[in-house]
Amino acid sequence: MLVVMKAQATEEQVRAVCQKIESLGYRAHPIPGAQRTAIGITGNRGEVNPSALDELPGVAEVIQVSKAYKLVSRETKPDNTVVRFANSDATIGGRELCVVAGPCAIENPEQAFAAAERVAKAGARFFRGGAYKPRTSPYAFQGLGVEALKIMAEIRETYGLLIVTEAVDHESLDEVAKWADVIQIGARNMQNFSLLKHAGHAKKPVLLKRGMSATLEELLMAAEYVMSEGNYNVILCERGVRTFADHTRNTLDLSVIPAVQRLSHLPILVDPSHGTGKRNKVIPLSRAGVAVGADGLMVEVHPDPDRALSDGMQSLYPDQFDELMNEIRQIAPVVRRTVAEAPARVNAAKMRSAAGESAATL
Ligand code: PEP
Ligand code: MN
Repeated sequence: MLVVMKAQATEEQVRAVCQKIESLGYRAHPIPGAQRTAIGITGNRGEVNPSALDELPGVAEVIQVSKAYKLVSRETKPDNTVVRFANSDATIGGRELCVVAGPCAIENPEQAFAAAERVAKAGARFFRGGAYKPRTSPYAFQGLGVEALKIMAEIRETYGLLIVTEAVDHESLDEVAKWADVIQIGARNMQNFSLLKHAGHAKKPVLLKRGMSATLEELLMAAEYVMSEGNYNVILCERGVRTFADHTRNTLDLSVIPAVQRLSHLPILVDPSHGTGKRNKVIPLSRAGVAVGADGLMVEVHPDPDRALSDGMQSLYPDQFDELMNEIRQIAPVVRRTVAEAPARVNAAKMRSAAGESAATL
C-alpha cells in the first residue's frame, strides 16, 4: 500500500500520516519525490484498510502496489535512486558511471596500495577489496578481517577512493559498516535474510549481489528486506548465474539490467570478473555492461594476478584496467553517461609517501 500525498502537503501532514500508519502496527517509509512525497506502508499483518488514511489532511490517494516488492518498486518511487556520500562527490545511480575496482582480497598493504594507486590513477572512484572472503574451501585464503579494513581506510585517506567490501555475517557487517563506505552482500548470502535485515539497520549503503541461481524477483525481494528495515540506499549487482555453459565461470545475464530498471528505481552494477571468471573476457563484457545501460562496473584488478591469493584468473593487470577505462570513456556518451577523469585530486606526493611508508605504518 502506498499513500500519495498532495504536491502541496506540508511536512507536518506527512508526519501525521506516518504516525497514523505506525499506530496501526505497520511501518511507514516516507519517500520524497520530484513532484510529491509518497509514504510506503510495510508490515506482515495483512493489508491496511485504506479508509483509515484516505481522509487525512494532505493525502491525495491511497493505492495498492501490485508487485510483491514494495519499496524497491518504481510504482512506489518513479525517480531513480542516486546514492550519495558525505565526504565525496561520487555517486551511484547518477550520470557518472560508478566504477569499483580492486583486488578480490586484501592480501597485504603493499598489494592493496599498489592496486589502489593504479585504479585511482585510471579514474575509478571506488576501491574494492575483500576482508572477509566467503570461500568454497575452508583451506582457501579467508581474508585478513579487520586488518584489511584498516588498510582500506588508509587507502581512502590517501587516494580519496570510497571503500566497498563484503560482510559475511552480523559481526563482520558491524565492522564493515564502521570502516567502509559501502557494505557488500555477496552472491552466497543474497538470501541470508537475517543478514539482509541486519544490513537494513546499518547506516551505510548496501551493494547486493545477485545469487548465482536467483531470479529477478528473488533479487528484488532480497533488496526489499534491506529497505523494509529502513536502509534505502541499496545498489544491485549482476555477477552472473549458473547455467550449463562451461566456457565461463558463470553466465553474465546482461538482459537483467533493463529488466531491473523497468521494475525498480535502484541502481545496478555489472561485475564482469565473477560473471566470466576469465581475464580475457572482462574488457568485452565491461563494454557491454556500459552499453546495456548499467549504472557502473565492479572489476577485479590485481598488481600481480598470477600470484593472487584469490580469483587471479579473472583479475585484470593494471594496464588492462587503463584500457578498460579508456574504452568505457568512449562508450559512455552514447548512453548519456560520463566517466570520471583520471584525477588531479590524487595527491602525488601523498601517494608516493603512502606507497613508501605503508609497509612500516600498517
Ligand atoms: C566478490 O565480489 O569478491 C565476490 C565474492 O563476489 P560474489 O559474491 O559475486 O561471488
Ligand atoms: Mn573475487
